[in-house]
Amino acid sequence: MTITAPEYIRQLNPYVPGKPIEETKREFKLKRVIKLASNENPLGPSPKARLALAKITKELHRYPDGAAFHLKNALSKHEKVTPSNLIIGNGSNEIIDMLIRTFCVAGDSIVTSKGAFIAYKICSQIHGVRSNETEMGSDLRFDLGAMLEQVKRDAKARIVFLANPNNPTGTYVRGDELRKFIAEVSKVRGGSVLVVLDSAYCEYVTAKDLPNPTTIFGEFPETVVVLKTFSKVYGLAGLRVGYAIGSPEILNQLEKVRMPFNLNSLALVAAEAALKDQAFVKRAVKANTAGMKFWEKGLKGLGIPFWPSQGNFILANVAEGLGKPGGEVYQSCLRRGVIFRPVANYGLLHALRISIGTAAENKIALAALAQEKKTSRAGRA
Ligand SMILES: *Cc1c(COP(=O)(O)O)cnc(C)c1O
Repeated sequence: MTITAPEYIRQLNPYVPGKPIEETKREFKLKRVIKLASNENPLGPSPKARLALAKITKELHRYPDGAAFHLKNALSKHEKVTPSNLIIGNGSNEIIDMLIRTFCVAGDSIVTSKGAFIAYKICSQIHGVRSNETEMGSDLRFDLGAMLEQVKRDAKARIVFLANPNNPTGTYVRGDELRKFIAEVSKVRGGSVLVVLDSAYCEYVTAKDLPNPTTIFGEFPETVVVLKTFSKVYGLAGLRVGYAIGSPEILNQLEKVRMPFNLNSLALVAAEAALKDQAFVKRAVKANTAGMKFWEKGLKGLGIPFWPSQGNFILANVAEGLGKPGGEVYQSCLRRGVIFRPVANYGLLHALRISIGTAAENKIALAALAQEKKTSRAGRA
């Protein structure tokens, strides 16, 4: 006898993170490596979060506060909701997993889109839950009509996952489309389908018609759960903190599934301090907007088309601009000490995702793409 995992585990393609800097240095014997692969905050963590961390170290022999009292209170003020509308996760990834474990059984399904953040698909598969993905609409936007049809058709559908703006495409769903969609989903099978609005990049949004997710929750509290994270604009990806905003009825069920000490003490105090440092958030957003302009101009200059993005990253059509698939450009830029993110696992073989870095990083990374352009020309000549 051998120990075998269930079929759905054996079939699973696990999540592939952005390549770490250290690993790239070792593999290619490089001294300087720039990573624009995981949508991390190029400004680092908030200095206030670092100070808070230094203070907590003498308490590390104690268990953390499983109820996350102080962080929830701070978030409650920030989001203008009650603490009972909040749950904290070890990254928003943990909350995606908790939602599926809480509301789905093996054989149920979730509805999402091709090209949507891949964690939804992977987390569902881990629990034997099917992930039904509709085709992307034009310009790599979600086809909400197709998603609604899928929800109606599939009696086993329990949760719809939408990232707004979406990663890796940077595209978004407008407020009018979103409201109409949620209103329709809330009527399906007596309102038994949950809509998860993953808003990991909401702080970066500049588009006027992309609505505030907390406002959307306020309009559809029985149907919507909003996900947010400290991994992006707050610069705390390494500490793993995310949260959800939802109705107490929904979150009470999640609380039963949550591990008692899912967040460590360091993460709890750092997130609270980072939340209170909104001046840092402003700086990060400003730097991102400037960096986005730099990339839009730079890509245009190289003749590389891109999809306009509302996040801290931009998806470039390198197949069209450089005549090589994303994976190939990724590999040769690695050798030049620049880590981008290939997105073949999203079916986007022609594209490469570029996280917005500091001004200096952006310049070096764009130069690496310019080198690619040269060699691709030479290759064709
Ligand atoms: C980065 C990202 C997250 C954040 O995940 P964490 O587990 O909080 O680090 C969530 N959703 C999307 C769409 C993301 O791109």
